[in-house]
Amino acid sequence: MELRTLLLNSWSLPHAILSWRDAICLVYEKKVHVLEEYEETVSSPSTTYFVPAVLQLKRAVAPVKKGVKFSRINVFTRDKFSCQFCGDHLPMKELNYDHVIPRKQGGKTTWTNIVTACYPCNERKGGRTPEQAGMKLLRMPAKPHALPLHTVFMEHNNVPDAWLPYVNLDKIQKNGSGYYMIGHASSPNT
Ligand SMILES: [Zn+2]
Repeated sequence: MELRTLLLNSWSLPHAILSWRDAICLVYEKKVHVLEEYEETVSSPSTTYFVPAVLQLKRAVAPVKKGVKFSRINVFTRDKFSCQFCGDHLPMKELNYDHVIPRKQGGKTTWTNIVTACYPCNERKGGRTPEQAGMKLLRMPAKPHALPLHTVFMEHNNVPDAWLPYVNLDKIQKNGSGYYMIGHASSPNT
């Protein structure tokens, strides 16, 4: 049986994807609320359980990590996977790094000089500053204090129907390795 269980945190955001065995352990330990069940059951010597489809943690877990490392994925996460020039929200493979002040003009590869850009905007801007290119940044890049800790990866085709009310499909993004992720999209500064 390959049933998997979606675990939500106490704010109802996707937290992890579990095997049904781990999911049943959490139910048994009373650490979670059962929100949805599959029709399939599993039996122990004493009880029969419906396999949980969606669980929610009873206890709050820290939603953010501190001291965010500069990386491609973290820049995209800070910018909510949207081009900082045209605002398009795009899959990761259609996004690029843009040096606001181009390297040739002394721009550094840092939180405050790198933004997420789509390829067309990146190309249009070329080796120019936004002013030189007549383009406007939607917001000035800053180093985030925190980013969402939990990024949940899954294959898009494998999202069970029972999960659909709990995952925002608009926020599912395809990344380079062909997987999709959910739960990344909360604001980096809250
Ligand atoms: Zn763009």
